[in-house]
Amino acid sequence: MIVLKSEREIALMRRAGHILADVMDRLRALVKPGMSTLDVDADVEAFIMGRDARPAFKGYRGFPATVCISINEEVVHGIPSARRRIKDGDIVGLDLGCIVDGYYADCAFTLAVGEVPPVVQKLLDVTRESLDLAIKECWPGRRLSDVSHAVQAHVEAHGFSVVRAFVGHGIGRALHEDPQVPNFGDPGRGPQLRPGMVLALEPMVTMGGWEVTILDDGWTAVTKDGSLAAHFEHTVVVTDGEPEVLTRR
Ligand code: MG
Repeated sequence: MIVLKSEREIALMRRAGHILADVMDRLRALVKPGMSTLDVDADVEAFIMGRDARPAFKGYRGFPATVCISINEEVVHGIPSARRRIKDGDIVGLDLGCIVDGYYADCAFTLAVGEVPPVVQKLLDVTRESLDLAIKECWPGRRLSDVSHAVQAHVEAHGFSVVRAFVGHGIGRALHEDPQVPNFGDPGRGPQLRPGMVLALEPMVTMGGWEVTILDDGWTAVTKDGSLAAHFEHTVVVTDGEPEVLTRR
C-alpha cells in the first residue's frame, strides 16, 4: 500500500533530507586518499547526531554502520572498515539515510577520488543524469514505470547497464515502503503518481553487465564481472506541480 504523506510529515522528511544534503557537501570535501572507510563513517555519524537526527541504516537488519561505502566494483551496501583505505583513482559510493522525529530520508552519490579516466567520469555523469531524468518524471498523473523507463533509456543509450537486483522505494515512517521503483522497464505501467507520494529514486549503473553477487560478509553487492559501478539517490516528493527533491538544498 502506498502511503501519501501530509504536509506535516513532508516537513519532517524535508528536515531529514536537508541534513543529508549537508552530509553530502561535507563528504565531497572530506573524502581523501588514505582515509579508512570507518573514519568516514564515524565523521558522518557524529555529524548526524549533532543535528538531532539519527542514522537510518545503523542496526537496520543488523547493518553495523551509518554509511554504506561501496568502492569501484562494489555496487551497494559496502561495510565501513578500519582496514579499507580509500585510494587515489577510486570511485566511492556513499549511501546513507537519517531519521528526524520518526521520518526518514535517503540519499546516495558516487565520488571520484582524484583523477579518473574519462570513461569512468562518464559512468558517474550518466548515472547522475539518469537520476535527474527520473526526478523530472515525478509529476502527478505519470505512471511509476515512466520513472523506471527514463533511467534505463538514458543509461543504455550510453552503453552502460542498469542493475536489476536492487530498486528504489517509497519512504516515510519506514526506510523502505511501497512502491518498489525499478530502474528499468517499459513506460506507462504501474500506479499513477499522486501528490504526497515520496519516493527514494536510486539508479545503480555498471560499465559491464547488470548481474551482481553478494560477498561473504552477507552485505556487499559487487558486479559479477568486476566492472565499475555507480549509484546516485535522492528522496523526492510528488507535489501538485514540480517535484521537490528533499535531499537537495
Ligand atoms: Mg534507498
